[in-house]
Amino acid sequence: MSFLRMEDLDLEAKRVLIREDFNVPVDAGTVTSDKRIVAALPTVRLALEKGAAVILMSHLGRPVEGEFDPKFSMKPVAECLSGHLGIEVRLQPDWLDGMDVEPGQVVLVENVRFNPGEKKNDEALAKRMAALCDIFVMDAFGTAHRAQASTEGVGHFAPVACAGPLLAGELRALSKALDHPERPMLAIVGGAKVSTKLTVLEALLDRTDQLIVGGGIANTFVAATGHEVGQSLYEPDLIGEAQKLIRLAHQKGGEIPIPKDLKVAKEFSPDAPSFVRRLDEVQPDEKILDIGPLTAMDYADMIWNAGTVLWNGPVGVFEFPNFAAGTRSVAEAIGKSRAFSIAGGGDTLAAIDQFDVAGGVSYISTGGGAFLEYVEGKTLPAVAMLERRAAEHRS
Ligand code: ADP
Ligand code: MG
Repeated sequence: MSFLRMEDLDLEAKRVLIREDFNVPVDAGTVTSDKRIVAALPTVRLALEKGAAVILMSHLGRPVEGEFDPKFSMKPVAECLSGHLGIEVRLQPDWLDGMDVEPGQVVLVENVRFNPGEKKNDEALAKRMAALCDIFVMDAFGTAHRAQASTEGVGHFAPVACAGPLLAGELRALSKALDHPERPMLAIVGGAKVSTKLTVLEALLDRTDQLIVGGGIANTFVAATGHEVGQSLYEPDLIGEAQKLIRLAHQKGGEIPIPKDLKVAKEFSPDAPSFVRRLDEVQPDEKILDIGPLTAMDYADMIWNAGTVLWNGPVGVFEFPNFAAGTRSVAEAIGKSRAFSIAGGGDTLAAIDQFDVAGGVSYISTGGGAFLEYVEGKTLPAVAMLERRAAEHRS
C-alpha cells in the first residue's frame, strides 16, 4: 500500500480538511461515548502543531439525506472536541461555500449527510468540499469501505490527498496481521449468523492455519456435522456451505473444531438458567447459547499457542451473565497471550470493554464493516483513491 501520509507533508499555513469518524452515540445533546473522538485527537493535535488551519468533517447517524435535523447535529461533538483540545472548536452550519479559519484554529463542519449527494458520491458536491482545502486528509477507517463524497470523491479533486495517522495505523496493523502474520495464525469468527460472514469465513480459511467458529455460526456447524441443535439460532439453508468449509479445512490439513461441550437454556432470556451439555446431549427443546467449559479451555490453549490471533464476533450470548463465560475466556486468553492480536466488530468491541481486556489486545480496529471487508480481501474505495492520488503525485 502506497499513499501519502499527513505526517510527511508540510502543513504550515495550509487549509487542511480532515475526514474523521465522529459517528458517536449522542443522548439529549451530549456525547455518551467519546472513544472515536479521543482516537482522532492525535491527528488533530499533529495538524495544529504543524501550523495548519484545521477543518474537520464527519457524518453522524442516519439523517434523511439533504435535510437538516437537529437530532443529528454535530454540536455535541464540537463541544466534546473543545473540551479535549482546550481550544474552541467552532461548529460551522453552512460550509460548502467556504469559511474563515486561521492556522491554529479548528472548525467542525455540520453533518456531511445533511448535503444531498453525499452517499451517492455526487461529483459536484465532492468538488465543493475539495475547494475548501489545500490538503485533504482521509483519517476515518470506519468509512473507508464506502465511496461517498466526503470519504472518496473529495480526494479526487483536492490539490493533495493523503492518509491521516489513524487510518494509516489501522491499515498497518491489519496488514501485519493478515499479510505477514506470525504463525500459527488463528482466526475466531463468532456472532449471530453465518450468512453475514460467509465470505469472511472463506477468506480466512485461505489465510489462516486455524479457524474457530463461535456463536450462532458455530450452531450451524454443529448441525452440519449431524448433531442436534434443538431450538438454537442456526441457519439450515447454510448447512451445505458449512460442510463445504469443513471439507476445505480438511483438504488444507486442518479442521474447524466443533465444540465438545455447550451451554444451553430452555429460553432466550437474560436470567434463563444454564445447563452444560456434551455435544451429543443437546435436547430438542434447548437452545445453545455458549460454549462449555472444556471447549473454552481448548480455545484458550489454541490462543495461547498462536503467533497471530484475529477475532471477530462473540462465541456466545455474552450479554446474558449465564452465557458470558465462553466469550470471557476467549477475551481473557487473547488479552494474556503474547500473540499479535487484532479484534474488530461492534459487539466484539463491546465484549472487550465488558471483560476489560483492551490493554492486552495488540490492535482494536475501529471500523466494523470496513474491518470485515479488509479481511475479505476487498479493496477499500477510499484507500484505492489515496493510492491513485499518490501514483499521480509521483509521476
Ligand atoms: P460483531 O458485531 O462483533 O461483528 P455479530 O453482530 O456478528 O458480532 O454478533 C453478535 C451477536 O451474536 C451478539 O449479540 C450475541 O448475543 C449473538 N450471539 C452469539 N452467540 C449466539 C448464540 N449461540 N445464539 C444467539 N445469538 C448469539
Ligand atoms: Mg454486531
